[in-house]
Amino acid sequence: MSFSSQGFAPEVVKALTECGYEKLTPIQQQAIPLARKGHDIFATAQTGTGKTAAFSLPVIQQLLDSGKQPSPRTARALILAPTRELAAQIADNIKEYAKFTNLNIAAVYGGNKMSTQERQLEKGVDVLVATPGRLAEHIEEENVSVRDLEFLVFDEADRMLDMGFINAIRNIMMEVESAPQIMMFSATTSSQLNQLSIDILRKPKRIMVERANSTANTVAHVVYPVDQERKTELLSELIGRKNWQQVLVFVNYKETANEIVKELKLDGIKAVLCHGDKAQSARRRALDEFKEGKARVMVATDVAARGLDIEDLPHVINYDMPFLAEDYVHRIGRTGRAGKRGHAVSFVSREEELTLVQVENLIKQRIRRVEQPGYEPKSRDAYVDKLNSKPAFKNRQGRRNNPTQPNTDQASAERRLAMINRLKARRK
Ligand code: AMP
Repeated sequence: MSFSSQGFAPEVVKALTECGYEKLTPIQQQAIPLARKGHDIFATAQTGTGKTAAFSLPVIQQLLDSGKQPSPRTARALILAPTRELAAQIADNIKEYAKFTNLNIAAVYGGNKMSTQERQLEKGVDVLVATPGRLAEHIEEENVSVRDLEFLVFDEADRMLDMGFINAIRNIMMEVESAPQIMMFSATTSSQLNQLSIDILRKPKRIMVERANSTANTVAHVVYPVDQERKTELLSELIGRKNWQQVLVFVNYKETANEIVKELKLDGIKAVLCHGDKAQSARRRALDEFKEGKARVMVATDVAARGLDIEDLPHVINYDMPFLAEDYVHRIGRTGRAGKRGHAVSFVSREEELTLVQVENLIKQRIRRVEQPGYEPKSRDAYVDKLNSKPAFKNRQGRRNNPTQPNTDQASAERRLAMINRLKARRK
């Protein structure tokens, strides 16, 4: 299915051709015709499926068709995204798609000056991309009104809820007096998300590109069992020996990220950081260097890297397994995009074997284990045997995150469990 057959204006089709888009991706095939007819949409789509174009192209076209101009300090279409990086990226994509039109597109998110953003909002904008917290501030200061909104999109709605934006979202919704067309996109589903969709969507069309919580089938998953304290060495060894270029490395803690970057530097591998302690401008710069190939590795935490679109990313490495199995899906969504081959590597210490089992259950796939000679974990076999022995297995089924651990791992298992429970509580 081609873009010109979807009734898009020639200037939009021209921009898409320049982006190298020829055919619609599956999510676009489903979402675009429904959105063009004005339906509300509730879509479960993985990252990397082309969902940004799926929601933004119908909005762009409908804004063009109406021929209206935005009033000063108002937005006609609002796209909410969980992180500043994702908001900036969506705005960049939309500017590309609309570059031959005279639509006015702006992005507002934390980390940049309110006053600069205020000036952008003064004349009114056709499309406003925003993080919920910063938008709420601009509404409060009357820099922009969403009263007459025509379109409202939630991108990565699941993550917005995880990040505790539910109140900001509900406050923004209270400001809307019109009945905008609403589209909600999410990589995973949850009861809280379903509730929000029931509250705000009108007879939504349900779209599922692949089963929820799945990863793209263009991704090859591999696990390297390794002791925690040898992970950095293994990372450096694999990158060097296998000559991997453009490697996105996920860690659970900022401190780990800082250490890895230092260690890789000692081995002559240029790496950049993307985590919450870095200023917005530094994160953008790091991402640009990584995208341009000036840095071979980017080490990131989950929140900072959420939704980043890095084209043709060949390797994603879980240096730490994520605390929640669902986050594996989000991390891996950075590779194997738009039909390209991707490589998802996970370093799994003995303490992380259980998370690996949960990930395998979630993605309904057993992941291949590869032992790197010289890095075999100490007494891992004994640990796994014990874990899979009958009593432990019984316990695991009954209490998903609370296995009977061998005594030596009790403390770390308990720390991990406490962390998982805290994260789960925040999700509720
Ligand atoms: P997204 O899921 O929106 O982050 O998009 C993932 C990647 O697919 C981005 O690099 C897009 O530029 C690209 N993309 C989106 N739609 C198409 C298309 N129809 N043809 C080729 N690439 C696309």
